[in-house]
Amino acid sequence: MDLVTGGAGFIGSHLVDALVNEGKKVKVLDNFSSGRMEFLSHHDTNDNVEIINADLLDLVSVIDAMKGVEFVHHLAANPDIRLGTQVTDTDLKQGTLATYNVLEAMRINEVGTISFASSSAIYGEAQQMPTSEDYGPIVPISLYGASKLGSEALISAWVGTFGIRAYIHRFANIVGPRGTHGVIFDFIHKLKKDPTRLEVLGDGMQEKSYMSAEDCVQSMLHILKNTSDSISIFNLGTGDTCSVSRISEIVVEESKLSEVSIEYSGGKRGWAGDVPKTYLNVDKLLATGFLPTSNSEEAVRNTASSLIKEIGLF
Ligand code: NAD
Repeated sequence: MDLVTGGAGFIGSHLVDALVNEGKKVKVLDNFSSGRMEFLSHHDTNDNVEIINADLLDLVSVIDAMKGVEFVHHLAANPDIRLGTQVTDTDLKQGTLATYNVLEAMRINEVGTISFASSSAIYGEAQQMPTSEDYGPIVPISLYGASKLGSEALISAWVGTFGIRAYIHRFANIVGPRGTHGVIFDFIHKLKKDPTRLEVLGDGMQEKSYMSAEDCVQSMLHILKNTSDSISIFNLGTGDTCSVSRISEIVVEESKLSEVSIEYSGGKRGWAGDVPKTYLNVDKLLATGFLPTSNSEEAVRNTASSLIKEIGLF
C-alpha cells in the first residue's frame, strides 16, 4: 500500500488519481489546511482509497498511519512561499519538521522508500541557467526553499544511516486544474474582483518553467519505475520558460475580457524571497525517456482555461 501525505492537495490529489489508475491501494494523510475533500470525492466509493485526517506534526498519528505502508509519497507542506516574509516558523514546521516525522515513522514501521516533492526554490538565485541537479553551492533565498533543502538533507541522512531508498523531485512551477495558489490563480481572482484592471507584482520579466500537474505526476511515477539508485535526484520541468507578463496576457486572452489594463507594481521580484528567474535543466529527466506533453505556455493556457471555469470568473 502507498501513503500519500498531502494527498488532498492540488498535486497530491492528481497523484492519488494516477496511483488508483495503476490499481494501487492508497492511504491519504492530510490535515486539510490547504487540501480539499472535494478533490478526492470521486474516490468516495473506492475501497482502495483510505483518507486519514491527521497532522504530520503529530508523530503518534503519523506512526499509526504508516502501518501496512510499503511506499511513501511525501507531498504535504505549506505551499505559500510568500508567507515566510511574515511568519518565520511555518516552513520549518510544515516542511522540515513534518519531513522528520515522516522519516521517523518510516523507520519505526520499517518502510523502505520515500518519494519527496522538493522544489526549484532550493537553488535560490542560481548562477547557472539552466540549472542542473549537480549545481552548487545551493543557496536558497526563501524560508520555503530552506525548508525543502533541510528536508532533502534529512532524507539523504536517512538513506545513509538507515538504508532507505529515496527519490527527490525538484519541481518547477506546477500548474493545472484544482490549483489553489500561484500566479495564474491569483490573476484570475484579481480579474474576478476587478475585470478592468490586472496588477502584476514586479516588472513582469520574472521567468519560470511551468509544468502541468499531469506531466508532473506522470514524470514522478516514470522515475520511480526507471531508476534504482539508493538516492535519485531529478529536476522536473519542461525545459523552457514563460514570463509573468506573458502569463498575464494569456490569462486575459482566456478570460475573453476585452478592456483589461495590465499594470506592473515594479521591481525585479514579486516579493522578498521571490526568485526572478528559474530555469531547470531537465536533461536527466528526458534521458529516462520521459517527454512532457505540454511546454510552459501550453501548460499555462490550459490551466488558465480550467481555473477560469473552476473559480467561476463568468
Ligand atoms: P497544496 O497546498 O495543494 O498541497 C499540500 C497538501 O499538504 C495540502 O493538502 C495540505 O492540506 C497538506 N498539508 C500541509 N501541511 C500538513 C500537515 N502538517 N499535515 C498533513 N497535511 C498537511 O500544494 P501543492 O502545490 O499540491 O504542493 C504539493 C507539494 O509540492 C508541496 O510539498 C510543495 O511544496 C511542492 N511543490 C509545489 C510546487 C507547485 O508549483 N505547486 C512547486 C514546487 C514544489
